[in-house]
Amino acid sequence: MLHSKLREDNYLHKGLRRQLIQILIKKGINNEKVLAAIENIPRHFFLDPAFERIAYEDRAFPIAANQTISQPFTVAFQTQLLELKKFDKVLEIGTGSAYQACVLAEMGATVFTIERQKELYDFVGHFFFLKNYPNLKRFYGDGFVGLPTFAPFNKIIVTAAAPKIPEQLLTQLKPGGIAVIPVGNDQGQKMLRITKNMEGEILEEDLGDFLFVPMLTGKNK
Ligand code: SAH
Repeated sequence: MLHSKLREDNYLHKGLRRQLIQILIKKGINNEKVLAAIENIPRHFFLDPAFERIAYEDRAFPIAANQTISQPFTVAFQTQLLELKKFDKVLEIGTGSAYQACVLAEMGATVFTIERQKELYDFVGHFFFLKNYPNLKRFYGDGFVGLPTFAPFNKIIVTAAAPKIPEQLLTQLKPGGIAVIPVGNDQGQKMLRITKNMEGEILEEDLGDFLFVPMLTGKNK
């Protein structure tokens, strides 16, 4: 992967992004703010230059450390489920390429994102595009622990497959908050939207089948 200052975002990329937006609309994404954020962010900057054209196909791609950048539909779907409001404080587990984190930051959220792979955490640190988002803060750590010192959060998004609902994260969710978490094993996961009401009660909704890389315990040097 290369994060070079020389990469450009030209009319071709912008045209491909407009086509991607049409695909996402056909697949049921209707939140204008989500679509605008995806249209504004050059996804090809997050991938190896060899993938420039296919960066705008609706599919996941390999990135460093055997991880993946989520499929645009999955990013859009999870983001839409969060019902983001400007200035929401959002915790993301699984920074990966930081694409999802940038979508959240582009929508005006204050984003706290955690990555457990040192290689990916360091790599993303050299990524010039992130300078556009002073409202995006990155952490190297274990997402199962969350960020108790920065809690509570209005929203939590997990972008790796959790074996079960990580209870410790729910304690970091504000009353009235929403967490979107794929829960399951390597055969597949259910996308759960978990809402905490003002009384602190938890409501769970199942929003269909997905496939993510696993959420792993502990940090990896
Ligand atoms: N949101 C990312 C998707 C990355 S794939 C993007 O937009 O590109 C999932 C990521 O979760 C991987 O980078 C993986 O290393 C990370 N991950 C897995 N378990 C984790 C944990 N316990 N804490 C933090 N990150 C974790």
